Amino acid sequence: MGPQGAGKGTQASELQRLTGLAHVASGDVLRAAIRDETELGMQAKKYYDAGELVPDEITVGMLLEAIHKVGADRDVLLDGFPRTVAQAQALDEALGRLGERIDLVVELELPIEVAKERLSGRLLCRAHGHVYNERTQPPKTRGVCDIDGSELYQRADDYPEAIEKRLRIWERENGQLVEYYDSRGLLCRVNADRAPGEITADLVALLQGGSVVA
Ligand code: AMP
Repeated sequence: MGPQGAGKGTQASELQRLTGLAHVASGDVLRAAIRDETELGMQAKKYYDAGELVPDEITVGMLLEAIHKVGADRDVLLDGFPRTVAQAQALDEALGRLGERIDLVVELELPIEVAKERLSGRLLCRAHGHVYNERTQPPKTRGVCDIDGSELYQRADDYPEAIEKRLRIWERENGQLVEYYDSRGLLCRVNADRAPGEITADLVALLQGGSVVA
């Protein structure tokens, strides 16, 4: 968990690489459905483009299916889901039916002003979603990913009004969700206003401490 711009996607890809956990990101699942123009994707598009939460009826089914597709033999790292208490309850019920559970919830803590700054200059690469920032972390060649050479683009919802709206929604929903997981003894907080490598090191230690990673 954490506000947009906290580095959830960056950290999740790194953890997938280091630990073998399967990374399931709700934003990616929704973007793929919108791109492929599936029925649910078409319904989700107007909320997504406006920077609003996609209704639970659409999101929950899509995300449970994405988790299911990973298969029973791999642990899953969820990124961006659940985002509301209703989604968290639906997830717990679905996992309970499978005899599975959430092992650990991490909140990446970042001041809202820093999140806004990171999002407004954010660039992603088409091939793998590697993240850059026009001002604070520019690529070596303008418009090109340093790592895989693919084109860099700005997300459709990374414009000022949508950024403001997404962060307001996050502030509104986050307190209750934090409380939901904290009261179950699952929540750990990590300072996300640091270099990515330092955050990754903390996350790996947390996963090992919780025996999530062998
Ligand atoms: P993200 O890539 O996580 O920033 O998500 C981008 C957009 O996808 C959000 O602004 C929402 O429109 C939608 N979205 C992602 N995850 C969820 C979720 N768990 N519930 C509802 N909408 C979501």
